[in-house]
Amino acid sequence: MADEIRVRAEILEEMLRHARREPEVECCGALAGRDVVITKSFPAINVLASPVAYEISPQELFRIFHRMREEGLEHIALYHSHPLGENFPSARDIAQAYYPNEAYFIISPQVGVPRPVRAFSIRDDMVRELRIEIAAAGL
Ligand SMILES: [Zn+2]
Repeated sequence: MADEIRVRAEILEEMLRHARREPEVECCGALAGRDVVITKSFPAINVLASPVAYEISPQELFRIFHRMREEGLEHIALYHSHPLGENFPSARDIAQAYYPNEAYFIISPQVGVPRPVRAFSIRDDMVRELRIEIAAAGL
C-alpha cells in the first residue's frame, strides 16, 4: 500500500459525525471507492457496544460487501472510533487487523484533538501511518 490514502472530504465529515453521534462506544464502518479514492462510507453497528473495542457482525459485513459489489465499488478501508484514548491502533486493533492491504481509519470524537481522523496500514503487527490526501469531488 502507498504511504497515502485518498479520500473525499465528505467521507471524513461522515466518519466524524458518526463518531460524535455515538460518543459512548466505538463506532465502526467500512469505506469503499474506485481507483483507490474512497468515495463512500458504510456505517455499521458495533455488536460489542464497547468504548474500547468494536466488531462488525459477519452478517452485516457480508451485506456491506454485497452492496459495494452492486455499486461497483471496491473495499478500501475500515474505520472505527476511539472515544477515550488516542486515535492510534490499540494492541487489539493490531492483533485483529485481518486486512493487511487495506487502510484502518481511527477517529477521535473528542473536541480539540489536533488530528481527529488518522489512517494506518497494519501489516504483520507493524503499524504505519498513512497521509490522508483529500480528493476533489467528481474524480
Ligand atoms: Zn481501535
